[in-house]
Amino acid sequence: MEKTQIYNFACLAYIDSLLDEYQEEFGDLPGKVKRLKHRVNELNNLVEESENTLKELRKFVKDAKTTIKDLKEKEEKLSKKQFLVRNNKEFDAITKEIEQTRANHNILIDEIRVSGIKEENLIKLLEQQKNDAKEAEAEFKEKANELEKISSEQNEEVKVLYKVRTKYFNKINKDYIKEYQRIRTHHHDAVVRIRKNSCSGCFSAVPPQKIVEIRNNLDTLFHCEQCGRILYPEEIMIDDEILG
Ligand SMILES: [Zn+2]
Repeated sequence: MEKTQIYNFACLAYIDSLLDEYQEEFGDLPGKVKRLKHRVNELNNLVEESENTLKELRKFVKDAKTTIKDLKEKEEKLSKKQFLVRNNKEFDAITKEIEQTRANHNILIDEIRVSGIKEENLIKLLEQQKNDAKEAEAEFKEKANELEKISSEQNEEVKVLYKVRTKYFNKINKDYIKEYQRIRTHHHDAVVRIRKNSCSGCFSAVPPQKIVEIRNNLDTLFHCEQCGRILYPEEIMIDDEILG
């Protein structure tokens, strides 16, 4: 009975059921860790963006203050010059220039005031964003550690399972493997034992004639007519012994 396709299949299915149990222990944890890492990156990007905006804003204010100083000096010079003019035309020209200088000066004063409000809001926003990033980072680390802990505990056992699995996997006809994987998308237990003349996956009865046929053709796959699972005879019993 050993070395037959159906025996190897029963072993493969047994190992896969054990691996499924390990997988269940992880639950959604790997996906969660991945999502948290993504969120941490997103939040850190937001912090960086805000920091850059704040830096630009502060540079703008600094430059504006310098410009205001320059404009003030220019205005004073123009006012002095105005006393020295010899005709109306020149006087008007300087007056116009002074007005322009003041207008520019006032525009900058306004812009600095608005920037002050922007800066205040930005600082608040940045603080919030940094907090969010810190919280997300802490949550990520917690879950990543949890995952790491489960992984290292499972590691050795899972390694053995994969090693034995490969042994049986390589003995099975590749078309059968494809068939197995197809059924696995519907039923985790794609290969099941016949028990009390029934499919142990869906519990529907297997006709006696078919049971005989299965017993006599251990290199052929037979499916349960109800659920489509692959059936193996009741005489084949698989347990942890196959793990060596
Ligand atoms: Zn069935």
